[in-house]
Amino acid sequence: MSQQDFFKNEVSIDAGARCISVLVPYPVEKAYDYLVPDDLDLEAGDYVCVPLGKRDITGVVWGEAQGNVPADKLKPLISKYDVEPMSKEHRDFIDWVADYTLSMRGSVLKMALSALGGLHPDKPSIGYRLLSSSSENRKLTPQRRKVLDVMAEGIVYAASELAGMAGCSVGVIKGMADKGLIDVCAVYSSAPCVSPDYTYGRAILSDSQAEAAARLCEESHYNVFLLDGVTGAGKTEVYFEAVANALSKDQQVLILLPEIALSNAFLSRFQDRFGCRPALWHSGLTSAQRRKTWRGVAQGETKVIIGARSALFLPYQHLGLIVVDEEHDPAYKQEDGVIYHARDMAIVRAHLGKFPVVLVSATPSLETYVNVQEGKYQHLELPSRFGGASLPEISVIDLRADKPERQCFLSSTLIKAVEETLGRKEQTLLFLNRRGYAPLTLCRTCGHRMECPRCTAWLVEHKRSGKLHCHHCGFHTHPPAQCPECDDQNSFAACGPGVERIFEEAKGCFPEARIMIVASDMVDSSEDLKDQLAQIKAGEVDIIIGTQIIAKGHHFPMLTLVGVVDADLGLTGGELRASERTYQMLHQVAGRAGRAEKQGRVLLQSYMPEHRIITAMASQGGRDVFLDTEAQEREMVGMPPFSRLVALIISGRDEAQAFEVAKALGRTAPQSKEVQILGPATAPYARLRGRYRYRLLVRAQKQIDVQKMMSQWVGGVQVPSQVRVYIDVDPQSFL
Ligand code: ADP
Ligand code: ZN
Repeated sequence: MSQQDFFKNEVSIDAGARCISVLVPYPVEKAYDYLVPDDLDLEAGDYVCVPLGKRDITGVVWGEAQGNVPADKLKPLISKYDVEPMSKEHRDFIDWVADYTLSMRGSVLKMALSALGGLHPDKPSIGYRLLSSSSENRKLTPQRRKVLDVMAEGIVYAASELAGMAGCSVGVIKGMADKGLIDVCAVYSSAPCVSPDYTYGRAILSDSQAEAAARLCEESHYNVFLLDGVTGAGKTEVYFEAVANALSKDQQVLILLPEIALSNAFLSRFQDRFGCRPALWHSGLTSAQRRKTWRGVAQGETKVIIGARSALFLPYQHLGLIVVDEEHDPAYKQEDGVIYHARDMAIVRAHLGKFPVVLVSATPSLETYVNVQEGKYQHLELPSRFGGASLPEISVIDLRADKPERQCFLSSTLIKAVEETLGRKEQTLLFLNRRGYAPLTLCRTCGHRMECPRCTAWLVEHKRSGKLHCHHCGFHTHPPAQCPECDDQNSFAACGPGVERIFEEAKGCFPEARIMIVASDMVDSSEDLKDQLAQIKAGEVDIIIGTQIIAKGHHFPMLTLVGVVDADLGLTGGELRASERTYQMLHQVAGRAGRAEKQGRVLLQSYMPEHRIITAMASQGGRDVFLDTEAQEREMVGMPPFSRLVALIISGRDEAQAFEVAKALGRTAPQSKEVQILGPATAPYARLRGRYRYRLLVRAQKQIDVQKMMSQWVGGVQVPSQVRVYIDVDPQSFL
């Protein structure tokens, strides 16, 4: 830290010194009071360094002093950082999220202070730029001439960037500077995405796109839009117009994507539209990238952020638009630490900042759908695929009639369709959302099932590792030679298919075909995955066998057949959102077929062809029929979005101790006509990572202040430090 942004402890403090409160990024609820040194000019939102215990830590000025501690007992704060203060809206947002999710205020602040390095101004780095006279110098080596050509636009570059572009060594650049052929200058800001050009690469919109874009652009206040249309309808192009509109007003823009969809393809698309790369925010960044982006956003220099859910907590200066692409995606729910739903919090952030938010989906969540029906959200619909590309033809294979052979999983109809596709030199995707070889390993003699010793879960056989794996805690073991229950030798049988088993079957059916498995455990890095996707695009693969990792956002022009191996997977579970999720996933997978000029085809293998999800998938306009029935059903049983749920998970290594806490919560539970509390019961995963788990479920009518009720209730129960109580407001999953 340099002298000018550092004020020592010893500065004199006046008798009537000013006090302020500072929130620190620790699991604390309240901001603490500090004395302000005389010569320090502070306002709310300033980032400051304060003493806490034996350490000096970074916090944010939250407001006036609370006054709980007498001024002569307070410590003076140490220094203020040289960075724009956190905006009022952003501080209000942090307060709001903490209140709503029943999290500690300081824990929410911690998410906003995720790159402390960004508090310090950049050290100027050395850049090089063109001299006005340098191109007139004739006697130049070809190498030097190349460097000047690269610099012709007058942009300032770092030596390494220039060398890369001109194909020479850094030494050549430095030599040119020494000779006075080019100019050396200091570069101060390295913020990403500082000047996207909103007029660059603008598309000519179709009439329906133009209409939707105009609606988005004319809104300058808070409003929620659902941009609805099938995959390929041109939704991205429409919201890019809204991004351009915000940029024209010098506002910042956040585009949220599920982490898995943050692909290179999307980034190049952004670049084609705005002439530069967007700033990225996700878990895979280096600390230098995080620092630069955080500071760029805080200073208001970085204009467009494309990020996963955590990007919501960056300290924007003038945020003017949030887009939540794939708004229905379960990845928007953060399940640990501060438990929040990024889509819902994006809406809150827009409300506090008084700007519009655009939810984008081909298969909107039921919550969003109902809000549209009730007129709370504005519906913008794109009727068909852009440019008249046709939608795939979807049909169902009734597995009861068209039974796969023993120990096989592909029906003759599907096999025939794959053969035809191979014959046309087109690609097939066989989709099965299950990693590994077989989800269950069973002893044929005694029926013993191989289970994880730490979780309530079956062990999944993986051929790649030759082991049995737990998909919850990472436990793995070699398959035992004999059954641990009945000691019989070689008695284990693999039950059911995973992608590795489908691979084996496909190899047998189509020996000539080039087959590839795409699943998260089959690639060692995101680079590997990129390679795989590139191979598919280049037509080096005939049959892709994939899990949901392949279902999102990728566009393969040669892919014309999608076979869903088990469309019933997920239909029978008791989870509230099981049908909704299954529908969304099947729809998304189906959208992979025939996105270019070629007609696509989707075959769903099912033992329950009359199930409403399967019939909805296979019929025109089936989506809204499905959502309407789903909504009616939820309303009838009083479930969200027609009521509000809060889940409590009580877990501990000691079963009895955890159960005691669960029982105490059950005993003191407030019951009324408006609030029901179910449980305590053992959680569906009664054990996870060695912890025993109990749960309670609160269902409240929507007008109830559940947060207030919850804190009074849960706050009244003693919880030993070994037991954890998780509160999940608006739970998405119930495991
Ligand atoms: P969605 O986001 O709804 O899945 P996209 O915006 O990705 O759809 O559009 C699908 C395809 O159509 C993309 O390849 C896109 O470049 C193209 N496209 C969409 N709108 C236009 C347009 N107005 N002009 C040219 N190409 C377009
Ligand atoms: Zn386990």
